[in-house]
Amino acid sequence: MSPIDARLRSIIRDPGRIRRDEPLKRHTTFRIGGPADYLVQVANRQELSGLLRLAGEEGLPVYILGNGSNLLVSDEGVRGLVLSLTGEFGRLAVEGSTVRVGGGYNLPKLAYEVQKRGLGGIEFACAIPGTVGAGLVINAGAHGGDLSQVVTEATVVWGDGREQRLTRDEIGFGYRSTRLQGTSAIVVEVVMALHPADPAELQGAMRQHLERRRATQPLGHPNAGSIFKNPPGDYAGRLIELAGLKGARVGDAQVSEKHANFIVNLGQATAKDVLMLMDRVRSTVEQRFGVRLEAEVKIWGHNPYFQP
Ligand SMILES: Cc1cc2nc3c(=O)[nH]c(=O)nc-3n(C[C@H](O)[C@H](O)[C@H](O)COP(=O)(O)OP(=O)(O)OC[C@H]3O[C@@H](n4cnc5c(N)ncnc54)[C@H](O)[C@@H]3O)c2cc1C
Repeated sequence: MSPIDARLRSIIRDPGRIRRDEPLKRHTTFRIGGPADYLVQVANRQELSGLLRLAGEEGLPVYILGNGSNLLVSDEGVRGLVLSLTGEFGRLAVEGSTVRVGGGYNLPKLAYEVQKRGLGGIEFACAIPGTVGAGLVINAGAHGGDLSQVVTEATVVWGDGREQRLTRDEIGFGYRSTRLQGTSAIVVEVVMALHPADPAELQGAMRQHLERRRATQPLGHPNAGSIFKNPPGDYAGRLIELAGLKGARVGDAQVSEKHANFIVNLGQATAKDVLMLMDRVRSTVEQRFGVRLEAEVKIWGHNPYFQP
């Protein structure tokens, strides 16, 4: 057993929660991604601070994995520790119309749990297949709603192990962005202020959201949701379609015929295929319309193919 393995085992007592050389394609909705040196399921803040200390001392990069629904992981995978938030990070507490929820909690599950209790405000998230923590960092949204409309505060743990409660202003919400992006912040808990609403009406709204998605999104093939952010005042999908790129392919990566801002994995797509296709889409759209698209999908690991 290597010294790092031994230290990991002293922090995470259950060896079943430590996986070595774990293929990340098993953990991304794109079904793409090489191995992580270590994939560790972290169940509480004590374990998290122990792992961050270990990473700092050993110089190991740290990545946080949610549901892998906004991620493109390189074919070579990533070195260091990939942490997945479980245990206490998957808790939900509802008091009146205030919700306190762990960073590892599933967004659609949250939408349905509060709907049953007659609380509205988060129904837009019923089909965003990610976690609360990742959703907060990018201010996930759909159907006219986003997390900035309900979040009142969040607790993060920084890469140096420091824990901090952040107000809405400190989180700094923007369109599919917050000030936490590109920082070492790990979102461990989020507080939301919801409002009383009729459960049947909420259920009806969620059913409509799901139907709209089934009609407009290529849910039959692995994908990572929208690849590019919408540019101000326009839609990335509209520009990509107008540029004639629907159906464009590199290897098994294809610009969806159904929704041009989705890239689908037709079976054996590699990260390199997707990145080369993203580069082609971005440069074609830029040449045609003078608009430079910005990636919405997060890219991990070796990537000489597409400069974000
Ligand atoms: C079919 C489909 C439809 C989608 N529709 C939408 C949509 O309508 N609206 C929308 O906004 N998104 C949509 N997405 C994208 C995606 O679901 C969201 O971006 C979601 O918030 C990502 O959550 P995740 O847990 O899967 O994050 P991951 O993909 O696992 O991670 C994404 C990034 O967040 C970071 N991260 C993960 N957890 C944490 C944490 N606790 N603290 C700090 N950083 C963290 C990761 O390190 C990574 O950089 C869609 C995706 C798919 C596949």
